[in-house]
Amino acid sequence: MLGGNLPGSENAMAAAITELEKNGFSVGKISSIFHSAAVDCVPGTPDFIDQAVIGCWNGTPEELLSLCQKIEISSGRPAIHSSRESRILDLDIILFDQMEINTPRLTIPHPRARIREFVLAPLAEIAPEWTFPDGSTISSALAALQGTQLP
Ligand code: ATP
Ligand code: CA
Ligand code: CA
Repeated sequence: MLGGNLPGSENAMAAAITELEKNGFSVGKISSIFHSAAVDCVPGTPDFIDQAVIGCWNGTPEELLSLCQKIEISSGRPAIHSSRESRILDLDIILFDQMEINTPRLTIPHPRARIREFVLAPLAEIAPEWTFPDGSTISSALAALQGTQLP
């Protein structure tokens, strides 16, 4: 999942996809870019854009995370940052096959994926039938979220 909310984020996301490809991530499908208002951020935080990418990766999830973090930093995102601050580029791994990972560095499925329409909607565009490890599909997770009253 690619995202950002600063001028230049859209270019950084396109460059990140190229960089992922160059480093062994074979891109399958790319969603359109979705726009959403910032949530849980300081007032005045610019709107976010998000885009989902699915593809094949022959290494480990940890190696993919390391590549994502390297690309974030080369786009200009400070290595040390707070999770609510504006960013040029954010690369998150939402799902990795049917794997479940819970380490200090990496949680898969992404722990907040199911409560974020800005994650599920782009993913549903390119992989509606893809499942979480519990067997529920992306499209059913999106329908469940849209059917609930957000807190
Ligand atoms: P959120 O995780 O709520 O989307 P964020 O993306 O802004 O917030 P970051 O500051 O980019 O948060 O990442 C914080 C840490 O999350 C990273 O250092 C990374 O080790 C960890 N992390 C855990 N699981 C994942 C995952 N599935 N994808 C990406 N990073 C992850
Ligand atoms: Ca994120
Ligand atoms: Ca992140």
